This record gives sequence, C-alpha cells and structure tokens, in this order.
Amino acid sequence: MNCKSNFICPLLVAAVSAGLASCQTVQTTQSGAVGVERTQVMMLSSAEVNKASQQAYRKTLQEAAKKKALNRDASQVQRVRAIAARLIPATSAFRADAPRWQWEVNVIASQEVNAWCMPGGKIAVYSGLIEKLNVTDEELAAVMGHEIAHALREHGRERASQQAAQSTAIGIGAALLGIGNAGASLANIVADVTVGLPYSREFEREADRIGVELAARAGYDPRAAISLWQKMGQAGGSAPPQFLSTHPSPENRARDLTDYAARVMPLYQAARRR
Ligand SMILES: [Zn+2]
Repeated sequence: MNCKSNFICPLLVAAVSAGLASCQTVQTTQSGAVGVERTQVMMLSSAEVNKASQQAYRKTLQEAAKKKALNRDASQVQRVRAIAARLIPATSAFRADAPRWQWEVNVIASQEVNAWCMPGGKIAVYSGLIEKLNVTDEELAAVMGHEIAHALREHGRERASQQAAQSTAIGIGAALLGIGNAGASLANIVADVTVGLPYSREFEREADRIGVELAARAGYDPRAAISLWQKMGQAGGSAPPQFLSTHPSPENRARDLTDYAARVMPLYQAARRR
C-alpha cells in the first residue's frame, strides 16, 4: 500500500486494517502536451468500476428507450458519432489502451443541457445541449473531449473510491455501534458520480486541459471550448443549465482554456494538414 499523503488515507487505513479494501496509487494517463500530472489514489479496481458503469449505462439507455427518447433524431446521432470517431483515436496520446475500449455513443432526447461519459467510454449527449446551445461541430467536440477526458483520467473511479472509503468508514463505525449499513450499489454510485454529482475544480481543470488537446489532435479548433462554456453560462438566463452545477465554472476557466488552447494550436494545425 502506497498512499502518500491524502485526505482519505486515515479512512483507507481503517478500511484496510478491517480487511475490507485495498488502496493503490496510480497514474491513469500520460501527461500529454498539456502536462496533466497528478497521482491518484484508488480503492476500487478499473474492472469493477467499468462493470458497474456498463450496468448503469445499460439502465440509462433502457429508461430512455422506454420514453422513446433514445437516438430519436438520426442526424444528431450520426453527427455525434462522427465526432466521437475522430476524438477516440486521439485518446492514445493519453493512454494506449483507450482506443480499444468498448466505446458507446448515444443521444438522449431531453430538454436538459447535458452530456457525460461514464467510466470505460460510455457517452451520452442530450439533444437539449445540441439544440439550446446551437453548437457547432467544434463546440460539440469540445464538450465531448472534456467528458472523454474525465473517463481517461478515471475521475469516476477516483470519486467512487472516495465515496467507498467514506461509506466503508461509516460502515465500520456503524458496525462498531451495532447499526446496519444501508450502502448503495456500485452501479448507483458510478451513475451518481458521473451524472449527478459535481466534480472538484481539480478534476474539471484536468478535463478542460485534456479536452482541448483531444479536440486539437482530432482536427477541431481547440478555441471552441471557450465559446462553448460561454454559451453554457448564458443558456437559461437566470436559471443556468444543471450541467453547470455539476461543472463548477470558476472565473478563471476561460483564461485557462485560452492558455491551453493556445498551447495545443500546433497539434490542431498538424491535424488539419493531414
Ligand atoms: Zn467536467
């Protein structure tokens, strides 16, 4: 076990000493041209998180299909899948295994301005995002690149690990007190952390930076991320999209995106020449 200093370590130590979990320090991605480097502590394996993700994704698609909201507009589906087909090969710059993941890309008909990528490459783009923001292909590539980046960095696994550490600690406390532990299934946790709960600023910064590089390598103008997030902020007037509440939008986000888009411009220009 190699935890280094991390806020969840006391919990992990408690969990491990109780024989309930083990902790790994990992480097999920190469740093890329944008230089994302941060050691991550994981309690859950990729295999178990990806299996849970598959279950959660299946369930989401089934529910959408029941409401006749799954891939309703063939032209939107074709558009989103064509962009994914360019972004996915670009993931090899960050991790060699990613292009071979079982990627899935679907469009959910919904008023909601939303998009996400569950662990292991399970993508959904909501029609509300495409229509309400009137996105260009470059902007769509920006939002999809950002969401794919969360999956490459395994932010869902990291977040679920933090949750598991907490609930294990709660479980231990509860066991000591003789109280039962309710505990959600891992599939629910994975769905929650991907779709419903905000990621930290640090995770968002990493996804922004890797996202612009993925877009650039796929031949999409990385500067479109700036207008995408501006449109996102303007959408809905006084009631901004739910998406923004799970994607904290600090004032310096536009500055960071401008900076990193400039750094990856040579990759974009090289991709355009191919
Ligand atoms: Zn994000």
